[in-house]
Amino acid sequence: MRNFRHGQSCDSSCCLRIQDLSVKIGSDVILRDVNLHIHCGQLVALIGPNGAGKSTLIKAILGQQDFDGVISFSAPGMRHRKPPRIGYVPQSPSFDPGDPLSVADLFSCCLSRRPAFLGLSAAMRDKTLECLERVHGEDLLGKRVGTLSGGELQRVLLALALEPLPNILILDEPLSGVDVEGQAGLMDMLDEIRKRYDLSILMITHDFGMLSTYADEVALIDHTVLKSGAPSEVLDSEEFCTVFHRKGGAL
Ligand code: ADP
Ligand code: MG
Repeated sequence: MRNFRHGQSCDSSCCLRIQDLSVKIGSDVILRDVNLHIHCGQLVALIGPNGAGKSTLIKAILGQQDFDGVISFSAPGMRHRKPPRIGYVPQSPSFDPGDPLSVADLFSCCLSRRPAFLGLSAAMRDKTLECLERVHGEDLLGKRVGTLSGGELQRVLLALALEPLPNILILDEPLSGVDVEGQAGLMDMLDEIRKRYDLSILMITHDFGMLSTYADEVALIDHTVLKSGAPSEVLDSEEFCTVFHRKGGAL
């Protein structure tokens, strides 16, 4: 991955550090002077208006977008230059409701080379159930992917992103397309996964109501980081009010 290198000294044992990152596409400056530090086991939320460059920042971290600056990662025992393993759930993937692809088929395609039409081997079925268990989704095994609710689809994609277990989990608007009850369930589950595996989670969200409960840090982005810190610090900031035209705090 371009420009990925070990972090220098870090207060925590493991972190993702973004330093002086900028992205230019054609003559447009999409991101400039982005500095962020994500510690192991933390949930960091990226917020900002549409077109602010949030997804572009994620693409840069994933190595899918050229950038200037440095993205580095350090973890205990990582002595050799090595990129982190990143689990990624993209923004609003859509599947055709008429598509016969089942959740079991999807796992078979993603985790093995065996053609889906041959069905799941016993070993792959066990592996898939183990993956789905991480998101309490064993009951989804035989369902067609195109017929899953927004929350169920996010859980299936999350289960895929967690196999093999990553160092960092990145989610692009996982709550959009999920109903309010489903959103709370999904956030509780992410919190559980974060604690169980000591994962760093970076997620883009427009749901400001959940930030105080679930996020350790929030970064407000509009082509650069306008404000970052604890949720209340960001949500009560002048920068937040200016960007979202809200007075007297976020909620
Ligand atoms: P966000 O996720 O914050 O809504 P994006 O990162 O998707 O914003 O996009 C930020 C800006 O970069 C937008 O103006 C978008 O049109 C532009 N952009 C993103 N990708 C490309 C691309 N491949 N080519 C040209 N412009 C792009
Ligand atoms: Mg986006």
